[in-house]
Amino acid sequence: MSEPLVYVNGGFVPQSSAAISVLDHAVLYGDGVFDTVFGWRGRIFRLDEHVERTFQSMAAIALAPPFTRGELRDLVLEAARRNGFENAYIKWIVTRGVNGRPLMDPAGCTANLIIITQPYIERVSAERSALGISLKTVAWRRPSGQVLAPQVKSLNYLNLVMAKIEAKAAGADEALLLTLDGYLCEATGCNVFLVKGRRLLTPKRDILVGITRNSVIDLAPGLGFTIEEGDFGLYDAYTADEIFVCSTAGGLLPVCRIDGRTVGNGTPGAAFAQLSTAYRALVDSPEAGPAYLTVNAVA
Ligand code: PMP
Repeated sequence: MSEPLVYVNGGFVPQSSAAISVLDHAVLYGDGVFDTVFGWRGRIFRLDEHVERTFQSMAAIALAPPFTRGELRDLVLEAARRNGFENAYIKWIVTRGVNGRPLMDPAGCTANLIIITQPYIERVSAERSALGISLKTVAWRRPSGQVLAPQVKSLNYLNLVMAKIEAKAAGADEALLLTLDGYLCEATGCNVFLVKGRRLLTPKRDILVGITRNSVIDLAPGLGFTIEEGDFGLYDAYTADEIFVCSTAGGLLPVCRIDGRTVGNGTPGAAFAQLSTAYRALVDSPEAGPAYLTVNAVA
């Protein structure tokens, strides 16, 4: 099979020859933003929302956009079309760029756009997700907006990488991070929901506002759930009927163990089944997002 094509420095090149400068601020300082979408049956789910989030992130870090919303949208669709994967993992990165000096001052940098497209990546195997994953509360806390706004999908993910390492070293699948003042926050790259009866509780402070989280919030009332966005503690998690995490790359994943405790009866619950079926139907629907493979796209 031929190599995927990556968009970088204004053109498409094979992945193995895609390169950026070692002087790019993204390399030197993690200075840039990114977003991840997926193509499913030839459509990109909620592309416009992801494009908007990139623009908000760039505004927050004073990175002058090197493209318009429409141009970014068209380039992502073009990258998906050229690679032709019916189900695809697509990540774009906007780096601060290069000004010729390995110094912190970004004056004179011109942003560079990278779009990586690969066949869809299953983050957790179907067998594993049928059993449910385990969460561990980690010592690393999520920085507050006064330190580094978590709403910005920036290239500074070291905090989350450290959390992931800590959780895996302890034998858990995923890390649960708390806010600086001890409230439930999010997992590494996923938002968290607790189920209590027909109530869905989800943290609202110091999180990346996930587009999958928004989809769950949109679907919930139609399925008879109420949504509570707020400050919740570990007690709420330890006494939840069900817990699940959600993200673009992983969809909805049930959590069956947390900090050595069993969640509910230890298997994915009825609320999870209902919500994940509805989410999958949304992803499969023609309204899911713009098509890049008309032949395979859902009618
Ligand atoms: N939290 C963080 C820190 C993330 O990076 C992500 C995206 N990987 C999410 C939550 C989930 O967001 P989305 O549903 O938009 O993928």
